[in-house]
Amino acid sequence: MVLTDVAPILVCPVCRMPLNFEQATLRCERGHAFDVAKEGYVNLLRKKLPGDTKEMVVARRAFFDQGYYEPVSDLLNRLLRVHLPDTIEGPLRILDAGCGEGYYLGRLQQSLSNDYGYMQGVGIDISKDAIRLAARRYPGSSFLVANLKEALPLVEQALTGMVNVFAPRNVAEYARVLQPGAPLLIIIPGSHHLEELRHSLHLLNIEENKQQHVIEQFAGTFDLLALHTLTYKLELEQGEIEQLVVMTPNYWHQSTESQARLAELADFTTTVDFVCLVFQRKLSVSE
Ligand SMILES: [Zn+2]
Repeated sequence: MVLTDVAPILVCPVCRMPLNFEQATLRCERGHAFDVAKEGYVNLLRKKLPGDTKEMVVARRAFFDQGYYEPVSDLLNRLLRVHLPDTIEGPLRILDAGCGEGYYLGRLQQSLSNDYGYMQGVGIDISKDAIRLAARRYPGSSFLVANLKEALPLVEQALTGMVNVFAPRNVAEYARVLQPGAPLLIIIPGSHHLEELRHSLHLLNIEENKQQHVIEQFAGTFDLLALHTLTYKLELEQGEIEQLVVMTPNYWHQSTESQARLAELADFTTTVDFVCLVFQRKLSVSE
């Protein structure tokens, strides 16, 4: 089981002591125990927290499986390879923080394993439904249910690199668990992302100045190395538009009116617009 490979970097979410494998359980020396699910993931949350629902992650998988976001995934894989250090000490270990149903981590694991011979992929998400789906399809990576907004269940400087796609950001924790000099790739929506669809269906707006906001958030502990944008058009059928709406936070905000408008949409062309920020964990941080 790949989880045994990453056990040395895991800490107990309750008391921060190391976690060790005992049969199908991760246990700290104070006796906090977390069972490995039959799909191979571990739930480190003590209580269920709101995350993406099963309906949302199933829609996302169906949408991703049509390859519409493959160019984003390819960009992520290429940029991570470019920005990883030439000499990697210890195992190549990459975290996808907010991995959802595992699409980006699964493709990254395959791509970097080809180049480096081996990669330890770790995916964290707050949604157990998402993690269960991820663990089933991508047995080569390790998946944990945990809350990105709290202390991560990982030791300091555990990671060679990290990706974060349309997911929550925790600057202090990302700085703590990354090795000095390690790359952190963050993908956020650009201002034109799904603009035609957002106008037509009155979907959620994208936060103004999001890019600048994220850059400022990370400025204390990370250097911004590069900024890439990726924009293209998608031609979607009605069912795919529905997947695209359901797989995002718009799911929580669907009115009867917008559902009716969605039902009337036939083929539709919309823009996808991604911004990839390449950060590097500073070599030293004055605290
Ligand atoms: Zn403990």
